[in-house]
Amino acid sequence: MSTPFPPSLLAAHHYGVAGLGRNGAAAVTALLAMGASVQAWDDRAEARAALAPHERLKIAPFDNMLGLAGLVLSPGIPHNLPAPHPLARMAVEAFVPILSDAELLYRAVRTAGSRARFAGITGTNGKSTTTVLLAHMLAGCGMPVATGGNLGPAALSLPLLPDDGVYVLEMSSYMLERLEQMHFNVACLLNLTPDHLDRHGDMAGYVTAKLHVFDHQHAGDLAVLGETLPDYETIRRRLAVTRTTIACVSGADMPQCDLYCTPDALCDHDGVIADLRAAHDLPGTHNRENAAAATAMALHLGMPRAAVEPALASFAALDHRQKTVGGIDGVRFINDSKATNADATARALACHDRMVWIAGGTAKAGGIEELAPLFNRVAMALLIGRDAPALAATLARHGIPHRIVETLDRAVPEALDRARELGADVVMLSPACASFDQFSGFEARGARFAALVHELAASRDGTARA
Ligand code: ADP
Repeated sequence: MSTPFPPSLLAAHHYGVAGLGRNGAAAVTALLAMGASVQAWDDRAEARAALAPHERLKIAPFDNMLGLAGLVLSPGIPHNLPAPHPLARMAVEAFVPILSDAELLYRAVRTAGSRARFAGITGTNGKSTTTVLLAHMLAGCGMPVATGGNLGPAALSLPLLPDDGVYVLEMSSYMLERLEQMHFNVACLLNLTPDHLDRHGDMAGYVTAKLHVFDHQHAGDLAVLGETLPDYETIRRRLAVTRTTIACVSGADMPQCDLYCTPDALCDHDGVIADLRAAHDLPGTHNRENAAAATAMALHLGMPRAAVEPALASFAALDHRQKTVGGIDGVRFINDSKATNADATARALACHDRMVWIAGGTAKAGGIEELAPLFNRVAMALLIGRDAPALAATLARHGIPHRIVETLDRAVPEALDRARELGADVVMLSPACASFDQFSGFEARGARFAALVHELAASRDGTARA
């Protein structure tokens, strides 16, 4: 259903790519495959060495940007705040646009003559889940779908879709700042809490960046807004000018929204869209918000209403986001390693009445104090990592049983023993901390947790058989 882009699509175009991480490297490959010539650079020799030689590829530092049709700048390189990177300044001075790879994908799709539609999803939290859920819903009803952007794969590594296809793109604020013509047929801003303010100056700058997801929308398009957005009415008024259809969504029971969730069902003004009791991998109000947003977009893109419920029920959570990784003796082990701050952990703790909680690592400012209203759900906390003593002090102040076990390897078997002893049916890894003191990232931490659970399950099977 999808095809590669025509090899001469960008012939005679010359692009610059600065920063050869996942996005930059994919941009080089895609631009060359479309016939463009490319100058690429990364200060890291190993990133440069990873590029395959090509007759239209020049690997060299930039001393000017004259003649470039555009510069693809790694998302990690600031072009504005806290200070413009010298390469960004060089581009601006030469009137070379700094473009997101999503913008180049959009242009390539249109230049290739495809009328495939685009869905753009942004927000502070829930972007990846909503993106993957929407793609799952559309693919389930037979639409050609390509998914990527911020969560990967890079936008420019996606294939060319036919007219009835849909690109579902997770858009970070950095990507949104680098759009010129991109037009999302459906766009979603889920929620906004302070994040990345070093790169956006202040909350107003961050909001402005996020609102670019709605640029170029017009009548016939859909803008989805999470009901918790600050300045909701101002955003709504601004979008109303473009006559874009607006859908307000909530994961809570708020019938004043266009889509909302009762304890058991996802509803709109026409009644129940889907029973949510079978949607096991979308626990909590936050995931219901994601489900409401994805459903609003899917319906607008032509998904039949009757197909929503089975699609939500068959959705499998992304790894490391409240993902069940095993069950032993009736105790469910849940990996929520992606929760690297207390805010994210609050969502996981709220989903279960009684659990053994594994937490710790490198704590964020404020630690876990804000979780105090949820501590009554914690039968026992097992603490790992650098800031375990600080977390222990908070738990001690609130009279919550806890033990510093230092490593995940010790935490997992002990968690099973404690869960059985205390009658808890869930063991939850939701660290509320960054992982870099003990792991290369939240993925490695979550993978280790899953491996330990599998080992423990296998050893108990062995014991049971012996
Ligand atoms: P993102 O891609 O924006 O980081 P994810 O879908 O990967 O978001 O979810 C990351 C974490 O954010 C989840 O584990 C959960 O704790 C929290 N989260 C998910 N959806 C929402 C939401 N709609 N509102 C608030 N928090 C959420």
